[in-house]
Amino acid sequence: SRVLEGKAAIITGASSGIGLATVKLFIDSGATVLGVDLSTAPSAVPLGENFQFHQVNLTEASAASSIVAAFASAFPSKANIDILVNNAGIMDNNEGVDTLTDDVYQRVIAVNLTAPIKLMGEVVKIMKQNGGGSIVNVSSKAGSSGASAGVAYTASKHGLLGATKNTAWLYKEDSIRCNAISPGAVRTNIANSMDMARMDLSSSMKMAPVIACHVNTQTGAGAAGPEVAAQAILFLASDLSKGITGAVLPVDNGWSVI
Ligand code: NAD
Repeated sequence: SRVLEGKAAIITGASSGIGLATVKLFIDSGATVLGVDLSTAPSAVPLGENFQFHQVNLTEASAASSIVAAFASAFPSKANIDILVNNAGIMDNNEGVDTLTDDVYQRVIAVNLTAPIKLMGEVVKIMKQNGGGSIVNVSSKAGSSGASAGVAYTASKHGLLGATKNTAWLYKEDSIRCNAISPGAVRTNIANSMDMARMDLSSSMKMAPVIACHVNTQTGAGAAGPEVAAQAILFLASDLSKGITGAVLPVDNGWSVI
């Protein structure tokens, strides 16, 4: 059904995995979407009046303001950014505090925590002036568990939940809702980066070994498709979840009960 008819959204990490599945689902649901990614625009989604793309590295100081400016020029008839999905993220390599390098730490925190906070800042200013909106942050099982990844990724995803709850609390009178999903293992490029041969060594997208305990990376058994996470994002982004804010929704086929 077209639960996002007339809504305009920004989705980060739009070129791959959960972000790409969310772009497709949002467009099918009636939304107008600005996709954002470090990588090039996804070839699976044609550019047109319902989809535009802004290529930017989210760790650049000017990224958040450039995204909001790109939205305004892509969709001049849309006064509000109704929906923000902070989805872009990178893995660490399961380093603990004793093996963590400053480089991995800085990059993981910059992409997974600082960038979503800064983008929420720019978007909340616009939502406040236009009657509110809905923000969905993509955290992780590692946002509540200490046993799912390295310290940088774990701290970044815990931190993102803190930012989600604080934003939900501070802007509830502005009709801005802010929620998070916590996926378990999802078949995406992050999971594929376990295969070192296919790994992009220019990025820090590496797979924490713990995921391998739960997922057979050859078959993908135990991991969900990205569409499953996208469905949960759609629910939290849309008016179907009216009244829900500051919530964290596990999307992990029951892994969260451990
Ligand atoms: P993915 O690698 O398939 O997609 C991530 C996208 O983010 C890529 O297109 C990448 O180019 C983009 N990106 C990375 N760094 C960027 C930057 N600096 N600026 C702009 N774009 C950048 O991975 P995915 O699994 O779809 O990940 C999406 C989110 O889901 C992440 O936040 C990840 O932590 C989270 N997550 C994934 C899993 C899983 O098992 N795949 C589990 C839990 C949480």
